Amino acid sequence: MLYYSTNKNSAKVDFREATIKGQAPDKGLYFPERIPQLDKTFLKELKSKSKAEISFEVIKPYVGNCIADEDLFQICEHTVNFNFPLVKVTDSISALELFHGPTLAFKDVGARFMSRCLGYFSKDNKREITVLVATSGDTGSAVANGFLGVEGVKVVILYPAGKVSKIQELQLTTLGQNITALEVQGTFDDCQQMVKQAFADDDVNEKIFLTSANSINVARWLPQQFYYFFALQQWQQDEPPVIAVPSGNFGNICAGLIAVLSGLPVKHFVAACNSNDAFVKYLNTGSFSSQEAVATISNAMDVGNPSNFVRVLELFNHDFEKTKNLITAYSIDDNETRKTMARVFELHNYLLDPHGAVGFTSLVKYLGNNPQQHGLFLETAHPVKFENVVSEATGVAVEIPAAMQEILQQKKSSLLIKANYEILKDYLLN
Ligand SMILES: *Cc1c(COP(=O)(O)O)cnc(C)c1O
Repeated sequence: MLYYSTNKNSAKVDFREATIKGQAPDKGLYFPERIPQLDKTFLKELKSKSKAEISFEVIKPYVGNCIADEDLFQICEHTVNFNFPLVKVTDSISALELFHGPTLAFKDVGARFMSRCLGYFSKDNKREITVLVATSGDTGSAVANGFLGVEGVKVVILYPAGKVSKIQELQLTTLGQNITALEVQGTFDDCQQMVKQAFADDDVNEKIFLTSANSINVARWLPQQFYYFFALQQWQQDEPPVIAVPSGNFGNICAGLIAVLSGLPVKHFVAACNSNDAFVKYLNTGSFSSQEAVATISNAMDVGNPSNFVRVLELFNHDFEKTKNLITAYSIDDNETRKTMARVFELHNYLLDPHGAVGFTSLVKYLGNNPQQHGLFLETAHPVKFENVVSEATGVAVEIPAAMQEILQQKKSSLLIKANYEILKDYLLN
């Protein structure tokens, strides 16, 4: 399998090179040159397969010969060695809980897969690799956790000061070792912009070996397909589900879309957005313009210029009608998100985190117009990660898991910097 750049001005590369580089030299995103088609018997036998077997089968065509089969199987086994339960919330809606990994959010899957791949590739790499990553909250901790102690890899995380929750901040500023957290006085988009500038800076790239661990990186993006298969494995209805995906940078939903284009049966996708509604406007008007990010209580989705938007275009060959036929998008504001958290707890005794609540609300809206259908939403983070917001909305205290108790005792260690690329460059080079 080869990957081309969405800007079409860079050479095609294999999985190894796409993973190591992160972003293409022409600043485009890597995209597989064809979408593999799943074997019909594989889909029929989904229910009897293990999570590792499914993951291996799904990712193998994308990896090609870049990783030996036994090693790839082990990487898959490690990546998905926790639970992904599909939990019934109402008669027509279930939650696919993606928060049972080490940092309590879905990003653990992509980060664990990518860190193992990069560890594998760096064995025959002489230079130290620096993973540079911007986070709106959950990426940083998942990446830091995945890479902690991996030899030959240094991790630098940029996060927006004051815009991540307390637990999120502690998760990314208390690990030490090969992990450094830069606290940026700006928004997530500022952080993402600074990271992009570093990748485009020849001077920096000559002196250090940089790669990205954002969903720009195919090794983080593509394994996110796995849990859509785990959802179907547990799905009990005859008709395929409508799937609502809480979306910010659109990596997760693009992974679901590519799974469907390779044969996974899904009825429809709902892109669930908070007040950052650039994509909702795109589906309404056919033209896309990026926006300034606004801060919300579902902070991991506070993205005004989703980097995977170009992958949506690519998935549908720039065909707007086709896109609209498979995806519907909603924008849910904080007020409605809070009301949903309160109501779902009261009526169904299910505690949503704010991102899952945006997903749930969007799904309710879609099913309201399509009442005969059933759906699931991705519960992308554990409510404890947003404990203040959740307990304020629902009136119940969120029980803090033992592993989190420990982190709350630790002291944050970060480097406060201005949202200025030159400062980041200076830091990287010295
Ligand atoms: C990152 C994140 C999202 C958004 O996912 P994208 O792939 O960026 O669209 C949603 N919810 C949570 C909890 C997240 O951490």
